[in-house]
Amino acid sequence: MIDSKRLRALRPRPGEGQSSTEHGVIPKGAKAEYLAASPAAYPWGTTRRYNSYKDFLVQRFGGRLQKVSVDAGFTCPNRDGLKALGGCTYCNNTSFVPAYCKPGMSIREQVEAGVEYLERRYKARQFLAYFQAYSNTYAPLEQLKRLYEPALENPQIKGLVVGTRPDCVDEQKIAYFEQLAKDYYISLEYGLESIFDRTLEALNRGHTFREWVEAVEMTAGRGIHICSHVILGLPGETREQMLETAQVISQHPIDSLKIHHLHIVKKTVLAAQYKRNPFPVFGYREYLDLAVEFLQRLRPDIHIQRLCGETHPRNLVAPIWGVRPATVMQHIEEALEKEDAWQGQLYQPKK
Ligand code: SF4
Repeated sequence: MIDSKRLRALRPRPGEGQSSTEHGVIPKGAKAEYLAASPAAYPWGTTRRYNSYKDFLVQRFGGRLQKVSVDAGFTCPNRDGLKALGGCTYCNNTSFVPAYCKPGMSIREQVEAGVEYLERRYKARQFLAYFQAYSNTYAPLEQLKRLYEPALENPQIKGLVVGTRPDCVDEQKIAYFEQLAKDYYISLEYGLESIFDRTLEALNRGHTFREWVEAVEMTAGRGIHICSHVILGLPGETREQMLETAQVISQHPIDSLKIHHLHIVKKTVLAAQYKRNPFPVFGYREYLDLAVEFLQRLRPDIHIQRLCGETHPRNLVAPIWGVRPATVMQHIEEALEKEDAWQGQLYQPKK
């Protein structure tokens, strides 16, 4: 056994070439000693080989937290013609809406129905209201307040998670979230999907990587949790580009990440393109290997919210693995174990 002083010494400090953040990677050669000395083996305080967002919420709130999805009736500038018509080529937002969430219900009613359902199903007691479908900051600020604030009236709701696009925020909206974040947990989820403008254009995303950087920089350091999404396996991107994605987004001040493998969903432009001209999609083992290598290159203090995509099988065109997301996560953990790999192992902070 080694003592706590030695344990602290094993955690890299800024300037040691390991990490410039509060957390960091375990120095080469010291992992076995570290593991043997503490059940909280990795810098994020658990023995899991990646920095799990679920664990982070448990640590922060002292217990399990569930997201209650709320459909506030938003659309998206990429669908209503402001930026484009038809939306992103892979998007079929109906596949995101849970059964208890009906557009005709008020926000209060949706929150109540969701809390009741999730309490019964998961025995959860604390919740976050998740404004998920479409772009949930795409309205004037006064209208946004009328949508968010009823959700926060429920005493079991500890905060908001708001999914949006980088081009649907401005200083006024961020200042409002900053105020809310003094009393609640506030998370903004910025869809990015790819760091390559050529891919973003092919997907009809209607924004550039630079716009994502600007939105993240505007939000950082204001008490707001910043999450982002990337998709691995987009047509035209190489394996090297996907791994470069982990390194590039690690240089920006995001707090958590959702990693999806590309799902081709029915009734989307991408599904039509795939039918006309099938392009390669991930085999299962191939994706597990890539996920391991991606995590190795990712900044260790980024919490991982997802490691694979999720679409109801009746809506999915490809790839069809027949494996549930929880099993994919478990297999990625097993692959990390087998390779003796962990998140941030190959992360290189920008000099
Ligand atoms: S920005 Fe989001 S909601 Fe809008 S079309 Fe793209 S994926 Fe769909």
